[in-house]
Amino acid sequence: MNLIEVRNINKYFYQPTKMQVLNNVDLDIEKGHFVSITGKSGSGKSTLLYLLSTMDTDFEGSIRINSEEMQGKRNRWLADFRNHHIGFVFQFHYLLPEFTALRNVMLPALKLARYPPAEIEHRAMDLLQLLGVDAQANKRASLLSGGQQQRVAIARALINEPLIIMGDEPTGNLDSQNAAIVFDLFRQLSSERGQTILTVTHDDDFARRSDKVIHLVDGRIAD
Ligand code: ADP
Ligand code: MG
Repeated sequence: MNLIEVRNINKYFYQPTKMQVLNNVDLDIEKGHFVSITGKSGSGKSTLLYLLSTMDTDFEGSIRINSEEMQGKRNRWLADFRNHHIGFVFQFHYLLPEFTALRNVMLPALKLARYPPAEIEHRAMDLLQLLGVDAQANKRASLLSGGQQQRVAIARALINEPLIIMGDEPTGNLDSQNAAIVFDLFRQLSSERGQTILTVTHDDDFARRSDKVIHLVDGRIAD
């Protein structure tokens, strides 16, 4: 089953002058697959990912995720869809520095309020453990190392059990040892939990070991 179906996407930016950044993009992503987006700097990787994450709504064409069409949906509907179904990991983690690691992981789930806080805390601790940062649970985020913070950010992206985990160079800021930990975790989430992973990466090794590579050249998908 395709979890994501993209048809004929065109994307323009208008500042400083009109420029077409994505050109006729079609792609399918199967549920449970681990997919990498590669391409040179400026080829449109982040732009494509932001469209697929529903954070950018200004595009031509069709994006269906979990059988829902994203084109034309209102911002509130999209925010709700995102909170329920998409976990996002940025290159720089954007944790709240004054909050503990545990609190950072709990926040998206507290916002959704599907479970009582005690259960959310329990699940957040489980995720911190899965990522090997449970010993840091009660430390303020600002006191953790870069690699630890990124792992906390991944736990945060997982807390609402998203259908899809998206990352824009999620290992780009990590040393090779931490990058390998994150890579193995993504691999495990897709093969053991059936979670779909979609990450922009510069790391050829990372891309080679994924189920599918989407390679962009000047805003087009290359064969
Ligand atoms: P990549 O992530 O592959 O490096 P991007 O998707 O960030 O590439 O950018 C693709 C192209 O779109 C680049 O030429 C970039 O300068 C341009 N671009 C990206 N974001 C904007 C924006 N907000 N406004 C104008 N141009 C942009
Ligand atoms: Mg980018």
